[in-house]
Amino acid sequence: MADIKLPDIGDFTDVPIVAVLVSVGDKVEAEDPLIELESDKATMEVPSPQAGVVKEIKVKEGDTVSEGDLIMVFEGADEGSGGGGGGDDKPAEKAETPKQDDTPAPKAASGTKAGSGDMHADLVVLGSGPGGYTAAFRAADLGKSVILIERYSTIGGVCLNVGCIPSKALLHAAKVITETEEMSSHGLAFKRPEIELDNLRSWKDGVVKQLTGGLAGLSKQRKVQIVTGWGEFSGANSISVSTDDGQKTVTFDQCIIAVGSTPVELPFIPHDDERIVDSTGALELSNIPKKMCVLGGGIIGFEMATVYEALGSEVTVVEMMDQILPGADKDIVKPLSKRMEKRLKSIKLKTKVTDVKAQKNGLKVTFEDEKGESSSEMFDKMLVAVGRRPLGASCAADKAGVKVSDRGFINVDHQQRTNVDHIFAIGDVVGQPMLAHKAVHEGKVAAEVVCGEKRAFDARIIPSVAYTDPEVAWCGVTEEQAKKEGRKIHKGVFPWAASGRALANGRSEGMTKLIFDPEDDRVIGGAIVGTNAGDLISEVALAIEMGSDAVDLGHTIHPHPTLSETVNFAAEMFEGTITDLMPPKKK
Ligand SMILES: Cc1cc2nc3c(=O)[nH]c(=O)nc-3n(C[C@H](O)[C@H](O)[C@H](O)COP(=O)(O)OP(=O)(O)OC[C@H]3O[C@@H](n4cnc5c(N)ncnc54)[C@H](O)[C@@H]3O)c2cc1C
Repeated sequence: MADIKLPDIGDFTDVPIVAVLVSVGDKVEAEDPLIELESDKATMEVPSPQAGVVKEIKVKEGDTVSEGDLIMVFEGADEGSGGGGGGDDKPAEKAETPKQDDTPAPKAASGTKAGSGDMHADLVVLGSGPGGYTAAFRAADLGKSVILIERYSTIGGVCLNVGCIPSKALLHAAKVITETEEMSSHGLAFKRPEIELDNLRSWKDGVVKQLTGGLAGLSKQRKVQIVTGWGEFSGANSISVSTDDGQKTVTFDQCIIAVGSTPVELPFIPHDDERIVDSTGALELSNIPKKMCVLGGGIIGFEMATVYEALGSEVTVVEMMDQILPGADKDIVKPLSKRMEKRLKSIKLKTKVTDVKAQKNGLKVTFEDEKGESSSEMFDKMLVAVGRRPLGASCAADKAGVKVSDRGFINVDHQQRTNVDHIFAIGDVVGQPMLAHKAVHEGKVAAEVVCGEKRAFDARIIPSVAYTDPEVAWCGVTEEQAKKEGRKIHKGVFPWAASGRALANGRSEGMTKLIFDPEDDRVIGGAIVGTNAGDLISEVALAIEMGSDAVDLGHTIHPHPTLSETVNFAAEMFEGTITDLMPPKKK
């Protein structure tokens, strides 16, 4: 048993507790937040000084506490284990990896001793995506010698080379096409643009090159050594890299695994046919097919459908679930569905693709709808965008003693540490959501922990964005999630039809929704659909991280006329102080 007392919290006494963040029976790691306090100056989370299981909670919301007050009793207390090994506790949004992993850890191979290989560094980072290069750069800035291993000759990973960046370049082109087309009904008639596919592709490739070239320069300036080749662990302190100059052994004191993910392939689809592509193939823009089938109505599938439709393809999207962009609330997705139903050939919901035959005259795709009825259609191209698979198993992590789940994820604790003390993992390979900004954040956490800083992943939310037209963005608690969990929420919704700026942009179909905790009116979630929603959601994310409530948002002066005002207005809709619309009736 261990008494957990309130540590030194600065010059404060009798501070009210606004939330107790754990329950009796919870397993807690050192640094996990236990209670939240609110002084007149700030809110602060009190981290656990040690790991253990919560046996008794001695305080409740509304109590006031001062330094030294007993707040909890732990059993099985494990002093000083802070962050090492366990790997079970993860923030809610990263919960894709197994919660409880009792499987025995693999035994590390004998490998090469640190310092006795061809190259050695304090820290080796395996994989140079947004997670990997961020971790490498941050650790170098903090004084470590760093080697970054990447199989491809350009660094930047999926995000820069075949993900976020090229897709956004093409989405920008798509937006220009549809915007100019739509302006014709507002008195500005453009001719249909001529699409010079080679030039468009070169421009997109140029954007990627500029960014990856910039990264290479930054690596040089930081003296981060890049080793090009496929790397596999050969022991707990060594990685064997297949380089153009043969096999090289790189040894390390500490390592960060950032190997990312790869597209999922389906067994009944002939993926070797060149007319069937994954997101990488779709981004190559080899042609503009007449008829295209997009399998998967998630973010990647729908973004690519947006691009190809604008370029002139007749696109059919097929999604197994009852809505596109599963994960976002239905009301938020509706304006996008409504607009795209008009532009796409069709959006087939609750429909499965059960067979694909590669024929000379095209791809024969068979669908099965919710009633079990089958139908077939011919297409010239098919994009398979049904998800991504983590690459944890592909780098022989088990030879370093690192546990990899059956699905290929590597389980980490809140400091990004694997079950092996000196090996960390970040990005897509550690769990959902597979997003670049999550990888970057985790990369910084891991690098700082490697360098001895007191750091943990304690972000409250990770925003998600579909850069479709309109964009759809959400973060924190969704209405759907609250309903499933039986959690009470309040909401404030502002329709963009009442936004002067949205009307002036000719795009008033959007909506901004804020979700509040009924206990204290704090913002706990938000979702936006409309042009630039991906940029606008950051204000909601900041509000949640800062513990802001409806009044904070409503009383923040937003510039007029902007779309950002819609966040302010959604808070006012909830407060009943809105004047640009009639306030909703009090329930
Ligand atoms: C089409 C598309 C669009 C996307 N758009 C967005 C977006 O707009 N916003 C967003 O947040 N996210 C987006 N994503 C997701 C985002 O790209 C990923 O979440 C992000 O790249 C993950 O970063 P990472 O560092 O974990 O790994 P990755 O970016 O996957 O990088 C891993 C790197 O490790 C290398 N590697 C793997 N194994 C080895 C090995 N054994 N030896 C040597 N090197 C190895 C790989 O070659 C790769 O370069 C998109 C993804 C796709 C496919």
